[in-house]
Amino acid sequence: MTQATGWNLWDWPFFEPRHAELASRLRAWQQQARPEPEPRTASPYLASECRAMAGELAQWGLLDYVLPDAEGRIDVRAICVIREALAYRSPLADNVFVMQGLGTAPLWLAGNETLKARYLEGCRRGERIAAIAVTEPEAGSDVAAIATSARPTQGGYLLDGEKIWITNAGVADQYVVLARTSDQASRGLSAFLVDADAPGLDIGPPIEMIAPHPIAGLSLNNCFVPDSHLIGELGQGFKLAMATFDVFRTSVGAAAIGMARRALDEALARVIDRRLFGKAMAELEGVQAKLADMCLDAEAGALLVYRSAWARDVRGGRLSREVALAKLGATEAAQRVIDAAVQLFGGQGVSSGCIVEQLYRDIRPLRIYEGASEVQKLVIARTLIAAQREQRAPA
Ligand SMILES: Cc1cc2nc3c(=O)[nH]c(=O)nc-3n(C[C@H](O)[C@H](O)[C@H](O)COP(=O)(O)OP(=O)(O)OC[C@H]3O[C@@H](n4cnc5c(N)ncnc54)[C@H](O)[C@@H]3O)c2cc1C
Repeated sequence: MTQATGWNLWDWPFFEPRHAELASRLRAWQQQARPEPEPRTASPYLASECRAMAGELAQWGLLDYVLPDAEGRIDVRAICVIREALAYRSPLADNVFVMQGLGTAPLWLAGNETLKARYLEGCRRGERIAAIAVTEPEAGSDVAAIATSARPTQGGYLLDGEKIWITNAGVADQYVVLARTSDQASRGLSAFLVDADAPGLDIGPPIEMIAPHPIAGLSLNNCFVPDSHLIGELGQGFKLAMATFDVFRTSVGAAAIGMARRALDEALARVIDRRLFGKAMAELEGVQAKLADMCLDAEAGALLVYRSAWARDVRGGRLSREVALAKLGATEAAQRVIDAAVQLFGGQGVSSGCIVEQLYRDIRPLRIYEGASEVQKLVIARTLIAAQREQRAPA
C-alpha cells in the first residue's frame, strides 16, 4: 500500500523545502523497499534482517539524519518525517533507524574525539549497530534507581550488573551502558561505551515480544572498559540519557502517527470495497463517523509531533511539555486509530497476519518505552503547576 494520507502536510508552517524533498525520497523508498510483510518473529532471522535493513537505510542516506551533520546539527523534523514514513511501511525498519540515533547520541553529545572517530561513522554507514542499555530489572521508569556499578580499576572500570529490555542486544556491535560510579542518585550515574566483545559482557537469550523486535537482557560481570570509554564526565550519565531522550522522544510520536496513517489507509480501502447491508461499508454513517474520529486523532497527533519537533529545531529553550504532549498525544491517538481499524475489519482484523492486526501489536510498546504515558502526564502536569506558581510569585 502506498501512503494516501499525510503527504499533503508540506505547507504546514513547521516545515522547510528540504523536508518536502526528503519526503519525496521517502516515497521512493516506500515503493522500492523490500516486500511486505516483514518477518513476524524467529529471533535469529530477525537479527540478520535488522543488519540488512541498517545497510539499506544507509544506502538511502537516511542514517545521516540520526547523527549530527558536519555542523553538528540534528534535524528533529526530518527524523520525525522519516520515522513516520518508515513506520507506515515497516515498524521494524523504523526501529532499526532510530536505534542508530539513540545508541550513538551520548557519544555525539559528549564523547571524546577518539571515541567519536572510532564508533560513529560505522553506525552512519549501517556497518555497525548501536544500542543503549539503561533499563534494569529494578530500574525502568525510575532511571535514578540504576544499580549496575562501575568500579575504578587499573586503566579503567569494572562493570557489574544486569540490564533488561535492551533493543539490539545480541545484534549490536557497541552498547552505551549507564552505570553507577557514586551513590549520589541520578548524579552518581556515568555512561560508558562497551564493545560487544568486551570480556564479561554476556547477552541473554532473545526475548520474544508482542511484535517483531530484537531485544534481550545484558549481564555485566567484572566487565572491563578502559578509561577512554567513559562518555563525557563522571556523574554525567543521567543527564546524557535525558538529553538523548530529549532529542528522540518526540519522534516516538511520529512513528506512532505513521502506523496510525497506515491503519487509516487500510481501513479506508476496506470500507470502500466491503459491502454490508446492500451497500459499501463506506456509505454507513456509523462507519463514516469512525473514519472521521480516526482522521482527527491522526492529524491532532501529527500536529503535536511536528510542533514539538519545530520547537526543538527552531525555537529552542525548555520544551519538556511540548515533547511530553507529542509523545503522549500521538501514541495514545495512534492506539485508538489502530483499534478502530481492527474493528472496521471485523473478523479479518483479528486474524493473524492481517496488517491491522500487526499494527495493533506494533503500536503497543510505544506507550511504554522512552517514558510511559503516565510519566509523560506527570511531566505535563508538573510544568503546568510550575508555570502557574511562577506567575503567582511576587515580582
Ligand atoms: C520494545 C521495548 C524496547 C525497549 N528498548 C530499550 C532499550 O533499548 N534500552 C533501554 O534501556 N530500555 C529499553 N526498554 C525499556 C523501557 O524503557 C522500559 O520498559 C520503560 O522505561 C518502563 O520501565 P519498566 O518496564 O521497568 O516499567 P516500570 O517502571 O515498572 O513501570 C510500569 C508501569 O507503571 C506505570 N508508571 C510508571 N511510572 C508511573 C508514575 N509515576 N505514576 C503512575 N504510573 C506510573 C506505567 O504505566 C509503566 O508502564 C524497552 C522497552 C520496550 C517495551
